[in-house]
Parts: sequence; C-alpha cells; structure tokens
Amino acid sequence: MAGGKADRPRPGEFELIAELFAPLARNAAGAFGLTDDAALYRAAPGMETVLTVDAMVAGVHFLPTDPPDTVARKLLRVNLSDLAAKGARPRGYLLVTALSEETSMPWLEDFAAGLAADQAEFGISLWGGDTVSTPGPLTLSLTAIGEVKEGAMLPRGGAKAGDRVYVTGTIGDAALGLAVLRDRLPSASEADRAFLADRYRLPRPRTTLGPLLSGVVHAALDVSDGLVADLTHMCDASGLAATIRAADVPFSGAAAAMLVAEADVTFASLLTGGDDYELLLAVPAEEEEAFLAIAAGAGVPVALIGHLEERANRAPETLVRLVDAEGEPIAVPHQGFRHF
Ligand SMILES: [Mg+2]
Repeated sequence: MAGGKADRPRPGEFELIAELFAPLARNAAGAFGLTDDAALYRAAPGMETVLTVDAMVAGVHFLPTDPPDTVARKLLRVNLSDLAAKGARPRGYLLVTALSEETSMPWLEDFAAGLAADQAEFGISLWGGDTVSTPGPLTLSLTAIGEVKEGAMLPRGGAKAGDRVYVTGTIGDAALGLAVLRDRLPSASEADRAFLADRYRLPRPRTTLGPLLSGVVHAALDVSDGLVADLTHMCDASGLAATIRAADVPFSGAAAAMLVAEADVTFASLLTGGDDYELLLAVPAEEEEAFLAIAAGAGVPVALIGHLEERANRAPETLVRLVDAEGEPIAVPHQGFRHF
C-alpha cells in the first residue's frame, strides 16, 4: 500500500477531482477551482506563450514500483525541462490521468501530494485537465505552459559551425538508475544505487538557467533521449554535424565507478542512455565568457564537450562523432532511446 494510507474505493470522477486535484488549482484565478469548462490565461505584456506536452505510460515510461509521488514529479519535471530548454519560465499546467483498474486511491493521494510539492518548488499551479478510466495501463499526460520574452525562445535549429557544445550537470546517471532498479548493476555500492535511482526518478530541470540564456546561446534542447540522439536532433535542425570528446563529458562519481566496474557500461552506453534532463547548448565563441558567467551565477555546472561543424558528406547516423582522448573515433552501436 502506498504511503501507508488506508485503502478505499476510488470515488467517481467529480469527487476525485474535487478531493485531489481542485486543491492544486487553488492559487490560479483563471482555473476557477476546476469547476468551469476551460481555464483563462493571459501572458504578461511583451511575453509569448510556450507550450509543451509529455505522456507517460505505466510499464513503459515508469516502473509500477516507482513511488507515486516521484511519478507525478517526474511527469511535471520532464515538461519543465522542455520549457527550460526553450528559455521559458513555467506558469501552469494541464493534466490528463487515464486510470487503470488497479490504480488505487492511496496511489492517487501520493501522486497528488507529489504534484503539490513540486508546485511549491517551481511556483506553478494546475489549471485544468481530465480524469478518465482505461482498460489499459495507467496513462498520464501533462501539458506545461510557460512564458518567454517575445522572440527570445531558444531554438533547436540556430547552431552555427564552430559553436561550442556545452552540457549542464552530469550525463548517464538516469540510465544507470534504471539499470539499478532492474538489478543490472550488481557491483554498485548502496550509496551509488540510491544516488542513481534518484537521478532516474527525479530529474532536476534547469529552470533557473534556461531563461537566462537568450542572446547568449545559438541553440538549445534538453537531453531526454540520450546525449548523442539529442545532439543529432540539434545537428538535423541546424544543418550541421558535431564532434564530441568522450573524455570531456561530465560523469558523476557513481557513473565513473560503473564505467570501471561494469563491462556493459561504456562511454557509448552512457552517451546514448536517456532521461538526463540536462541542457545541451550551442555557444558561439564570442559569447562563451558571458555564458560561463551566467552559468556560474546560476550555480549550474557546465562542461565543454565538443563543437559543431560543417556537415560535409557525413551519413545521417554519423552526424555526431564521438572521439577518445587521442581523437580516434569511438563506435556508437545505437543512437539513443527510440519510443516506437
Ligand atoms: Mg525536449
């Protein structure tokens, strides 16, 4: 039983909304306590609205054993990560829950508590949504709404040849966390297991840094499918290619330990694992100093890992080249997580 709460039958749709979701809309005047057909929202003067949506299916995007409050927070945070990657500040969100027969009331209570915790942390509110039943697995979808100054949204496709490729935080932890939760990293210490599982379950979207980067970076996206796959997306959108120096990619202590101890953990596997929710940024040389000052001011660690270059005759699957410390190419067996 989740959270030690007493189990009880799930009430009907309207009772469920009134009890669990309406309190999450209390601070948003335009949400009308979730009692109207739609919400009302006006962006501040001089601001544009940025919209993003993600869906998560039980057994596909989260594990049935994941604590419900972390499922809720991850659902919210993957969307906040997309807003951060576009330079937008989060304002509110819409939520669709399609409940399976097994979705219990204690599970939903913990789920709503996770949303409440993150609403407080990120200063946003629930604005509306829908609650339905499904004969399939529990399915969740969240649409986040953010604001960015007019014309200031950070594009994927604005990178130029010669731009430096920077990444925030560390790469590969979440993929290792999933491996830990599937009992696939026997050599990991207790502390590393806890750290990596937390990185998988609870992304830290770069909401403070993203909105500061307009005019300083040429292109930005968040790493969700894996560093190589997402950098390939930036290359595609920008008509470029890239070279990444594996030795310069930032790894956590736990990931570095797994690189040494586990045969299955390689540079390539860490760079193609998903769920990092760090920012990948194309920084022009002339803005590099300003960029580094902004990142330091925001308290966000950033690492220079490579550069963007002309595409020449590179095949589509080799747009992102990975090289070792000697400049020799490292083979990447697959590009990253494929959803279909
Ligand atoms: Mg994204």
